[in-house]
Amino acid sequence: MFNPRPEIEYADTIVIKEFQEKKLVEMLDYLSNSSRYYQTLFSKNQIDIKEIQSIEDLKKLPVTTKEDLATYNQDFVCVHQEKIIDYITTSGTVGNPVSLMMTDIDLERLAYNEAISFTVAGCKASDIIQLTTTIDKRFMAGIAYFLGAKKMGAGIIRVGAGMPELQWDSILRFKPTVLIAVPSFILKLIDYAKKNNIDLKKSTIKKVICIGEPIRNINFEFNTLGLKIREEWPIDLYSTYASTEMATAFTECEHGAGGHHHPELIIVEFLDENDQTVGDEEPGEVTITTLGVEGMPLLRYKTGDICHHYNDKCACGRTTMRLGPVIGRKKQMIKYKGTTIFPFSIHEVLNSIEEIESYLIEVSTNEIGTDDILIKLSTKKPVDSKFEKELKDHFRAKLRVAPSILILEKAVLQSIQMPESGRKPILFIDNRIEAIS
Ligand SMILES: [Zn+2]
Repeated sequence: MFNPRPEIEYADTIVIKEFQEKKLVEMLDYLSNSSRYYQTLFSKNQIDIKEIQSIEDLKKLPVTTKEDLATYNQDFVCVHQEKIIDYITTSGTVGNPVSLMMTDIDLERLAYNEAISFTVAGCKASDIIQLTTTIDKRFMAGIAYFLGAKKMGAGIIRVGAGMPELQWDSILRFKPTVLIAVPSFILKLIDYAKKNNIDLKKSTIKKVICIGEPIRNINFEFNTLGLKIREEWPIDLYSTYASTEMATAFTECEHGAGGHHHPELIIVEFLDENDQTVGDEEPGEVTITTLGVEGMPLLRYKTGDICHHYNDKCACGRTTMRLGPVIGRKKQMIKYKGTTIFPFSIHEVLNSIEEIESYLIEVSTNEIGTDDILIKLSTKKPVDSKFEKELKDHFRAKLRVAPSILILEKAVLQSIQMPESGRKPILFIDNRIEAIS
């Protein structure tokens, strides 16, 4: 029988650690028997896996990068082709897409992962879940939601991406209670409802599981996007974070204080640029070791996502680690006047200023080889010189440093933000030498 609330999520942290270490030993044993990539890695680095018994011992192992996974892709596969069921590629937001293959066991693990993640967000077997994202195109997410809802015993409506009209037809026809959606798409649904006299307050939707975009800032308050949705449509918003490579989700509970870790599915480390563990207060790169994966397990895989993490017990009673919103990609990390900044924190500052209409962050390498930040922005009304000074003071208060500011006419800024092929305005341009090479 499927248990939607596994005991391990409420156990003492020491029990969780011991539980994970037992699974880690099994995983290393499996890799040394079945993974060509890790067999080579162990022998090249003269690693005796018997010496890896604890989470701390993981430090003795080299990390696996996205480049490793792309370059030696086939060597990561641990099973014969007959065992592979689902063929997937990563969405390739950074670099080329990478292939991943899942066995029946992996699909079962994925279903379990999503079912317990839905449970964290308060979903039940009696819910009807409407999926507003793609289920095909070699993506993993859609199939995960479908399998998870099925495992939980909930109903599911596979509408797919876009099509506000069909989304509303499904909402009115089948009366779903939960939407899985990219938060900015919710704004489109709200817009459609308003134009077509659909009463949002009377809809059956109770909550949205928000994917792909943050709805909160690092203090877990709703950000501008989250507030905008809630203002128009007073439904509950839950954030979830996942990636194809980890095949595991971190979903918020009703207290909205970070995505809950599932210790039976994944080991998480937070590393700095030199692959050293960061302090509990510091943001670090989410680095994962999958547990229970049969097709393509990963050991100390660096996701490129930078997050804060929280180890204190959650008000929901779960003792598992919680993950804050992704504050940036490692490649977007900016070293500015001795401070490390991610675009996320700059967005947060700019989004909070009422006068700003639109903006673009440009990062470049200056003549001494360090990073420079220039923010080009347009304002809703003409502003005087005091505005720039106040904005810089605001930056210093929030980020300790102030970037250069250039105020442009709305039309001028728009022409830079909107290249012919683009669908979304560009908010971040990386002109650094390293980024280009
Ligand atoms: Zn919680």
